[in-house]
Amino acid sequence: MRLTVLGAGPAYTDRPGASGACYLVSDGGTHLLLDLGQGSFPRIFPHVSPEALDAVAVSHLHPDHFIDLVPLRHYLRYEFEPPRRIRVLGPTDLGARLDALHASPGFAAEALQLEVLGERSHWVGQLLVEGRLVTHTDESYAVRVGPASGDGPGLVYSGDCGRAEDITPLVRPGDTLLAEVSFGAGPVPRDVAHLDGPAVGRLANATQAGRVLLTHLLMGRDAEAAVASCRAEYGGSVEMVWPGSRLDI
Ligand SMILES: [Zn+2]
Ligand SMILES: [Zn+2]
Repeated sequence: MRLTVLGAGPAYTDRPGASGACYLVSDGGTHLLLDLGQGSFPRIFPHVSPEALDAVAVSHLHPDHFIDLVPLRHYLRYEFEPPRRIRVLGPTDLGARLDALHASPGFAAEALQLEVLGERSHWVGQLLVEGRLVTHTDESYAVRVGPASGDGPGLVYSGDCGRAEDITPLVRPGDTLLAEVSFGAGPVPRDVAHLDGPAVGRLANATQAGRVLLTHLLMGRDAEAAVASCRAEYGGSVEMVWPGSRLDI
């Protein structure tokens, strides 16, 4: 599998070139997007034509993770005759939320084939996508993406998550852990449902993850300090990823 970071979040930042969460996972002819946050839609094109995506998996209904489904919907609806459709796996209310943005019932369903992500497995081309509920919004998911055969190392994406242990059941030894580290080296303020470097490091250590990729760093937080704080808890490879990062999983 190849991971290409199209957008690394967060919800707002002064970092030049930043856009909402969006990670492209490709395996042979299969292309899966994990999240599609603000400003990331145009970044799909250099890698794959959006209509060729096998699916988009949306972790939760915060705009920095799903709002560019709107331009994707318009693109599929107006650039093709008849309109194209794409599978979208996500929280239960995703269709209603998109419809409400345009005050138009059926708006999403015209181009998006919506399925509830749920705590179960979905086959997407050559990939197997597994969802797991995590602490963040009422229905937020972490996901594991691996070969459809069920064998071999996978990629576990945290989405946004307030409790690292929620992700533990998804991680198999040797997996790559792509984890939000909103609060950098930490600490995370009380009652805020996000992670910091030490929490991700402890998760990686406990689950024997093969590698850690940090992302979704809030404005003003120090990336090097975040990486160092994670390394203090985990002996494997740790790096911050940015738009344009490409990694073999
Ligand atoms: Zn969120
Ligand atoms: Zn977010």
